[in-house]
Amino acid sequence: MRGTIIHAPGDIRSEQLPDPTMTAGTDAIIRTVATCVCGSDLWPYRGIEPVDHPHPMGHEYVGVVEEVGDQVTTVRPGQFVIGSFATSDNTCANCRNGYQSACVRREFMSTCQAEYVRIPNADGTLVATDGEPDPAHVPSLLTLSDVMGTGWYAAVAAEVRPGATAVVVGDGAVGLCAVIAARELGAERIIAMSRHADRQELATAFGATDIVSERGKDGVARIKDLTEGIGADSVLECVGTGESMTQALRSTRPGGNVGFVGVPHGVEIAGDRLFFSHVGLRGGPAPVRRFLPDLIDRVMTGGIDPGRVFDLTLPLAEVAEGYRAMDERRAIKALLRP
Ligand SMILES: [Zn+2]
Repeated sequence: MRGTIIHAPGDIRSEQLPDPTMTAGTDAIIRTVATCVCGSDLWPYRGIEPVDHPHPMGHEYVGVVEEVGDQVTTVRPGQFVIGSFATSDNTCANCRNGYQSACVRREFMSTCQAEYVRIPNADGTLVATDGEPDPAHVPSLLTLSDVMGTGWYAAVAAEVRPGATAVVVGDGAVGLCAVIAARELGAERIIAMSRHADRQELATAFGATDIVSERGKDGVARIKDLTEGIGADSVLECVGTGESMTQALRSTRPGGNVGFVGVPHGVEIAGDRLFFSHVGLRGGPAPVRRFLPDLIDRVMTGGIDPGRVFDLTLPLAEVAEGYRAMDERRAIKALLRP
C-alpha cells in the first residue's frame, strides 16, 4: 500500500509499504477514505521534535472497515467509521469517566497517512455512521478525528456556557473549530484572536463576533476593553506556546476558566501568578471519543460544517506538498485522498 514516512525534518515521502496486519483480536483494519496533515505533524517536520529514525505519520482518519478481530463486536466490515487519534477500550475507569484519551489501554495513532490503517482497541475507538455518508460530509467527519473533537474539548474544558463570553487563542484548524464549539455551546460573544485575513473570515463564518489581531500586552488590553475590564468567562487556548498560554491566562476573568488543548512546547506557568489569578485550568489530549456520537450527529444533520478548515485537497501521493503548504502557511489544513 501507499503510506507516508518522515525520514528527517523537512523530508516527507510517499512510499510503498507493507499492508498492515491484525496483531490482536481487538484490532480492525480500515481502508482509508480520507486523512490529513495536522498542525502537530509540523513539529517533527520543522525539527522542533527530533526525528531519530524514519517513521510513519498521521493520526486522523475516516474509512471503511475491511476486517475485524474476533473480539470486535461494535463495528463490522463495510461500515464507514471515524475514530479518535487516541484509541480507547471505552470500558475502563478512565473511559467511563469520559477521559478516553487517558484510557489504560490507550495507543496513539501514528500511521494514518496511508491507504490502510490498523486500529487497536477497535470496539471502543471506532464509531460507525448510520449508513454511507454523503461525500460532501466526509471532510467534516474527518475533522472529528482530531481538530473538531479537540476544539470541542477546549470549549468544554473552559466551561463555555450559554450567554458566556469566550476568547479563542489561535487561528489554526483547532482554534477555528473551537469557535464552532463555543457557538454550539451557547457563547454569546466569541472573540477570535487572529492575524490572518483568510482565517479571520472563516472564524467569523463559524460564529466569531469579534476579531482581535493584537498579541501580548496589546492583545490582553483589547480583550479587557471588550469585557468590562475583567477578562472573558472562558478562554480556549489552541496553540501550546508560552506566549499563547500567557495570553490565555491574562485574558480570563477571576473565576473564569482556561481550556488548553495546544500541545505545550516551552510552557511554564508561575505558581504565584496562577494563585492570584483565580483562574481554573483544564486541558490535555482531548477525549474525542466522548464527543464523537454527538458531533457525528451535528455534522450529518448539517448543524456544523468544520470541514471548511480544509483549504487544500491532494492525492495521498502528494503528501509532501501538503506539509510544505501548511509549513509555509499557504494552507490551513491539507486533506489527503488515497
Ligand atoms: Zn479505557
